[in-house]
Amino acid sequence: MMKEDFYDILGVSKNATEAEIKKAYRKKAIEYHPDKNPGDATAEEKFKKAAEAYEVLSDADKKARYDQFGHQAFEGGGGFGGGFGGGGMNMDDIFSQFGDIFGGGGFGGGFGGGGRQRRVKGSNLRIRVKLTLEEIANGVEKKIKVKRKVQAPGTTYKTCSTCNGSGQMTRITNTILGRMQTSTTCSTCGGAGQVIDKKPTDADGQGLKVSEETVSIKIPAGVEDGMQLKVSGKGNEAPGNGVAGDLLVAIEELDHTELQREGDNLHYDLYISFSEAALGASREIDTVSGKVRIKIEEGVQSGKILRLRGKGIPSINGYGKGDLLVHVNVWTPKTLNKEQREFFERMAQDDHFKPSPDSKDKSFFEKVKDMFS
Ligand SMILES: [Zn+2]
Repeated sequence: MMKEDFYDILGVSKNATEAEIKKAYRKKAIEYHPDKNPGDATAEEKFKKAAEAYEVLSDADKKARYDQFGHQAFEGGGGFGGGFGGGGMNMDDIFSQFGDIFGGGGFGGGFGGGGRQRRVKGSNLRIRVKLTLEEIANGVEKKIKVKRKVQAPGTTYKTCSTCNGSGQMTRITNTILGRMQTSTTCSTCGGAGQVIDKKPTDADGQGLKVSEETVSIKIPAGVEDGMQLKVSGKGNEAPGNGVAGDLLVAIEELDHTELQREGDNLHYDLYISFSEAALGASREIDTVSGKVRIKIEEGVQSGKILRLRGKGIPSINGYGKGDLLVHVNVWTPKTLNKEQREFFERMAQDDHFKPSPDSKDKSFFEKVKDMFS
């Protein structure tokens, strides 16, 4: 997806002055402000985009890098210097960084105080997702039913009368050193600046109710047991103009019957008979991308490792894939009948079957390096 040009987002030319950029951003921020567009996701997206563009174009150093390299200047290495988490700013960042842009602007009550009003965030939800090795190797999209709190339709809010919508309580105390001013979060509205006006009977005290939703979660290839993925905004919603919490998805890896994982590599124990070891064989084995036929050379030794390149797990960072290591085990029969016993006794008389390993057979590292082609 092509990222939109920052100058286009703000509607200014590449030669715009600092003042022009600031003015253009202020205009967009007011136009798409969430207080003016409650519940409008498109406006919120535009509001965020404008802030992202302004974050770069208002900083001489970032602007110079952007002018030279475009969006690539900020890709990789965890985003912009100014604390942008994976792609884009959240509302709290915008208000804390650019709150002053609204100073003296048309946001009486809501943002008059220079953006000090707190955006209440809904709580996070945690779920576990069990994945097979095949799903981990190939990446998977899971549809999962989640019970989350959402704003109950019909709930309306009004400005908190305790703090007049600022979310803050200011107290002035006279001390021997003079007047001291202290600010605390308003205890009536919890800092949101709003309280419930009306709510339907099935809503809780915050105007929220539980809703069962199916959330689609894209799980990238290469995740590991114990990893946690974050689906932004899919946690519990917050009342009023607050932002929804996140859905935190813990990965659980299910055991595979044939394959064992070690980092991005997989291990497979292959058992062959005495005769297969002596005569060579062709066997079908399980991999995470279906069955694969492998050839065992005649005269193979027990303990040999065959390396199937790229048949392991893709790296979570997107760089390459692990290998599938097939460990050859020669199976020794646990019981013998009379005839079989005589057969092995005859073999035991023959010097040809006495072990005489050369240095290559003995070296573990040689075996690891050996690969199957
Ligand atoms: Zn209040």
